Amino acid sequence: MISMIGTDSLYDEVALLNDMIASSDNIVFFGGAGVSTESGIPDYRSKDGLYNQKFSHPPEVMLSRPYFEEDPAGFFIFYREKMVCLTAKPNAAHLKLAELEKAGKLKGIITQNIDGLHQAAGSRNVLELHGSVHRNNCMKCGAFYGVDRIMASGDDGSGIPECPVCGGIIKPSVVLYSEPLDNDVIAEAIGLISDADVLIIGGTSLAVYPAAGLINYYTGNRLVVINLEDTDPSGRADLFIQGKIGEVLSRINV
Ligand code: NAD
Repeated sequence: MISMIGTDSLYDEVALLNDMIASSDNIVFFGGAGVSTESGIPDYRSKDGLYNQKFSHPPEVMLSRPYFEEDPAGFFIFYREKMVCLTAKPNAAHLKLAELEKAGKLKGIITQNIDGLHQAAGSRNVLELHGSVHRNNCMKCGAFYGVDRIMASGDDGSGIPECPVCGGIIKPSVVLYSEPLDNDVIAEAIGLISDADVLIIGGTSLAVYPAAGLINYYTGNRLVVINLEDTDPSGRADLFIQGKIGEVLSRINV
């Protein structure tokens, strides 16, 4: 494994990453909340992340299916305030990944994020393991709604978004803790990862399963990890770059 820390060595690391990217047209990116922190959306586990803020319960409780059922009003207060950030714009990492796809080098993005910023940057093949704040459905009749309906419900009555067609609760299509992931999305993600010759993992603590387990399907020898903290204690990566993913990827030539 090659691992270098600090700006002096960043030049060499980026050169290695550039070589890997130049020699492949079958790159896959697997990312998490750290990809969007440079867009101003907090992650969970960094020092400014949601775990280090004060709420009545930790995020994995506030964002769990049992909590949603027990206290939907409380769920939606937390959800609207902490999980939806409609002013955030794609950062250099999102933009470079979209550029790599357009250039025919990146086959797909597998993300744990629910913010839709990869699509906003222009990426087309994005597998959202945990769903998206932009898709919402009535739990009773299935009618589809955009995120505006969820946000508007904060201003009226109970704060619980209600379907104007049948009166059912509108639920965001995000995977809550204790809910299963979509089998088709998992199967597609496994296919992409198993076939990839370069796998770049970025901005994720790899602490949330089953998403994190998907990287075990990679069998190649160009595994790159880009993260602020050392999330590769086992030294599995062929190249570990410790740094901000937007800053690192903005130095990649396409
Ligand atoms: P996490 O908070 O557990 O880990 C984030 C990791 O990214 C940390 O290791 C941190 O050091 C690193 N990081 C932070 N900023 C970075 C940067 N600029 N460059 C490189 N690395 C950076 O997040 P996770 O692993 O994705 O798992 C948490 C769960 O939270 C996921 O299931 C995800 O759905 C959800 N989540 C999503 C969003 C979002 O959609 N933007 C935000 C918060 C949480």
